[in-house]
Amino acid sequence: MGVGGKFWDLLKPYARHEGPDYLREKRVAVDLSYWIVQHETAIKATHVRKPHLRLTFFRTINLFSKFGALPVFVVDGTPSSLKSRARIARFFRFSGVDVSGLLVAEGVSSERNKTFLKCVQECVELLELFGMPVLKANGEAEALCAQLNAEGHVDACITADSDAFLFGAKCVIKCVKPNTKEPFECYHISDVEDCLDLKRKHLIAISLLVGNDHDLNGVQGIGLEKALRFVRSFSEDEILNQLHEIANGSSPSLQIVSKVVDEIMLCPVASPAMSKTSHCSLCGHPGSKRAHFKSSCEYCGTSTSQGCTRKGEGFKCNCSSCNKGRKEKEQQKHENWHVKVCNKISAEPNFPNDDIIQMYLCNKHGNFTADDDLCLSWRCPDIDILVDFMDFHQHWEPSYVRQRMLPMLSTIYLREMAAKPQKSMLYGQYVFDSIQRVKIRYGHQSYVIRWRKMTSTAGSIIRTNSVEESDKPQEEIVEIDEFNDHLDEDTAPQIHIDDGCCFLLTDENMELIRGAFPEEVERFLHEKELKASKRRKGSGFKNEGSDEKSESPKSKRVQLKLTEFYQSAKVAAIHTKQGDLASYSENQEDGPSKEKKKVSGSNLPKSVRRRLLFM
Ligand SMILES: [Zn+2]
Ligand SMILES: [Zn+2]
Ligand SMILES: [Zn+2]
Repeated sequence: MGVGGKFWDLLKPYARHEGPDYLREKRVAVDLSYWIVQHETAIKATHVRKPHLRLTFFRTINLFSKFGALPVFVVDGTPSSLKSRARIARFFRFSGVDVSGLLVAEGVSSERNKTFLKCVQECVELLELFGMPVLKANGEAEALCAQLNAEGHVDACITADSDAFLFGAKCVIKCVKPNTKEPFECYHISDVEDCLDLKRKHLIAISLLVGNDHDLNGVQGIGLEKALRFVRSFSEDEILNQLHEIANGSSPSLQIVSKVVDEIMLCPVASPAMSKTSHCSLCGHPGSKRAHFKSSCEYCGTSTSQGCTRKGEGFKCNCSSCNKGRKEKEQQKHENWHVKVCNKISAEPNFPNDDIIQMYLCNKHGNFTADDDLCLSWRCPDIDILVDFMDFHQHWEPSYVRQRMLPMLSTIYLREMAAKPQKSMLYGQYVFDSIQRVKIRYGHQSYVIRWRKMTSTAGSIIRTNSVEESDKPQEEIVEIDEFNDHLDEDTAPQIHIDDGCCFLLTDENMELIRGAFPEEVERFLHEKELKASKRRKGSGFKNEGSDEKSESPKSKRVQLKLTEFYQSAKVAAIHTKQGDLASYSENQEDGPSKEKKKVSGSNLPKSVRRRLLFM
């Protein structure tokens, strides 16, 4: 996507693979339509209600909590029709959205377009409920991402569109692979400049020559390799003007080249190749066979009696005259090649397209100006509405949504604590209890944090061993590789019962914990050190070799009913917010109603609540 002719392959050797902390506390612009179309594997539409929402839900939580990034989402305005067609085609190929109802023929692309836009709109609603800033581009989303990057509003862009560089991006993250040692595949324009000797305007020129999403053809007969070699012979400042002049047939460089060629053709005697000094036919060195016979060849370095050494197969004389000749021949070859490329360019009608150049160079892709202090802010997620939103669209249990949201809340909570320590609880329910242990995943360390649940649900907890399965939304049962990236059970908060108390275990970034609870980190490290020295002394005792804090004997990991544990923080608040939900009702599809469980957060039966919501 972006520049044609396998442009990404060209950049591939300069990719940097960065670790999970690469984006921590950094702002990153996310090209939303790529965010929702980029799948490693297609999702089976039959098993997942709305794959785009599911993907947005988990990817956003991951990016924000696990990687600690501050994402800014960017949606397309009105992209050029060519580009949106290419993008939508990709979406339908990979998203798993059921296309059987829509005719796949090109003729109904407006129908597909409508479906795609509706998906994007739903994702935007979800992101706004998450409290994420969402910006709308005038045209291409990756153009605004790049502008935000160029102007320093964000540190990187997440897009698979190589056009981002042409729009001025500094760092493009093409690919995010959550469950790997180095999840981010990054490309820096500085590397492209240093290693490939290509500046932004060179890239624009290449894109014009080989074709791009806006003009798929480019110049007839010019591929990526030719374009690369050609644009490199000009400086960044002159390349675009040169393209214009070559296209008009008035390029000075073209004239110079053709003059040289003409001279060579007109007076072959003056040709440098002909004026070289004579060489010995036996050894190939400067001089003559006769002269070498008389007074040995200085290059052969043999005595007179032995004479010249016969030149071998493929002998290349390196005297200055021969070198010069070869160089000139090379130059001539290059110039002929250059002329040929120029001819191709001037033969191309309407080349170069000024609108496309202007589009790439323009620096107003959003509805804010550079002088405006672009205000990006991250609010707290609107959990109650989110719960209803996911229930409505995905039929997810409220408790499931709350559980999966928790890493996001703990990240926000820890950031706030680090900035300004205060007496408050995570999600109004949990207090920091202790650091349990260090966890290592993909070579990366984090702390497992134990939170104590303060509200008194412990007494009413129903102990059962198999609830988690039956409590999962239907979609969970489907095992698809893609989802393992996002739904790793290990990373979801775990419930833990110890001596009648309810605890929650979450994985948190070590630096974040150190910022929020420095003395807890000190204590943990101290205890760890003590344990280690005890272990060294009392080597005779059996040792489990675990860093884990010893739990009381009664302690047992108990699976709880999620519905009991992940309760709404604001039970009463939900009723006041129902008005906002009216907007979802236009598209109400009352799917197969799931088994009614106790609806957490509301004492009203679900059917009653639904009636309230969709009056
Ligand atoms: Zn000789
Ligand atoms: Zn010789
Ligand atoms: Zn020579």
